[in-house]
Amino acid sequence: MQSDTLSDSGKEPPSRSLSNSSQPDGLESRLKPVNGSDHSGVASHISALDALKQFRSAGRGFWSNVADSDWNNWRWQLQHRITSVEQLQRLMPTLTPEEFAGATLANHKLALAITPYFFNLIDAADENCPIRWQVIPRVEETYTARWEMSDPCGEDSHSPVAGLVHRYPDRVLFLVTDRCAAYCRYCTRSRLVSNASGYDFHPQFDKQIEYIRNHREVRDVLLSGGDPLLFSDERLEHLLSQLRAIPHLEFLRIGTRIPIFLPQRITPELCAMLKKYHPLFVSIHSNHPRELTTEVRDALGRLADAGIPLGNQSVLLRNVNDDVTVMKALVQKLLMCRVKPYYLYQCDLISGSAHLRASVRKGLEIMENLRGHTTGYAIPQYVIDAPDGGGKVPVNPDYILSRDDDRVIIRNYEGKVFEYPEAGDGTPLVQPPTEIEEPELV
Ligand code: SF4
Repeated sequence: MQSDTLSDSGKEPPSRSLSNSSQPDGLESRLKPVNGSDHSGVASHISALDALKQFRSAGRGFWSNVADSDWNNWRWQLQHRITSVEQLQRLMPTLTPEEFAGATLANHKLALAITPYFFNLIDAADENCPIRWQVIPRVEETYTARWEMSDPCGEDSHSPVAGLVHRYPDRVLFLVTDRCAAYCRYCTRSRLVSNASGYDFHPQFDKQIEYIRNHREVRDVLLSGGDPLLFSDERLEHLLSQLRAIPHLEFLRIGTRIPIFLPQRITPELCAMLKKYHPLFVSIHSNHPRELTTEVRDALGRLADAGIPLGNQSVLLRNVNDDVTVMKALVQKLLMCRVKPYYLYQCDLISGSAHLRASVRKGLEIMENLRGHTTGYAIPQYVIDAPDGGGKVPVNPDYILSRDDDRVIIRNYEGKVFEYPEAGDGTPLVQPPTEIEEPELV
């Protein structure tokens, strides 16, 4: 999508009070058991996990006077994004000094943009709101440690042509745009997306497609960016049809955060177009159960009904999802949306992201408390993307305690220890019977 179609219209949304009964509670209160009442007025007590797993609408918030036809129109949402510190402060007078300074500086590093729909998920009264930490810039983004990088995954050094990353043997990453519906403050590609720091990204689809056509070992293409679903249906279909015409391509994937930032984009027409290009998988990006609203559940349902397998990629983020209950609610809620939790990423060493990075120790603690404690389908693979293009390294709690010449000692999720008989060289252990019985002759 061209950048001009994404620019803010400058129109002011109608003002309203900050109190919003549809807003969920803040982080701390959401981790405590919640007292509520059912329709009969009988007080009920639900656990923090159950409270996090409830599906709610994002509501209209400040935009209650907008016509349904506009609110549900993805282009209207894009045109009315919050993109300046002035807009942000008007809508959210509770900005902290760190946020105000961050929003003032944002357009020199990674632009500020939040769709009205997603903005409604922010709890303005809670400085620790996990939605707020993901999309509102903070001054800490300007602090850089010597081990932080602008391209932590070494993508630029693995790009044979502009916009194509060939880091693994049989698959490529095809970057289609530098634009997103909203900008995540920890984005691995913040050097590139939004063009705030002058990267000047210009993919050349002809060269990218020619490279894939000439490399028969490539069987899998991941379209990403930026967000490919910002393209019009026609433009995206043109690209997909060119890729599908390459005989050795087995599998197409789209990486997108649009279902979360802009569920209005997942129209029946888009789904009908995408289903023509199977096998086509979609990887969404969701970090907190509050992002899974009724609007998102419906949008994901439309994709699933089109036969598109859905996976989720989360980033482990401090103050957002570095908590066992929050993560368990997220993965269980994803399954209810027909999405398989796929990866949990350790946050890359992106410049200015220290305030959002949780520790590997915390990531392992979360994995330890998921495996065995909930459905196997709900368990993502925790990975660290090794700096400088080393690729994804799976990181797991230790379940093998020791090995010797005739056994492996393992433990289960409860800490119980077991032996598995196996020779030191991995061959099966076969023990002959002590007495060989003569077969009975007939
Ligand atoms: S949607 Fe993806 S590419 Fe866009 S800012 Fe967020 S993490 Fe980066």
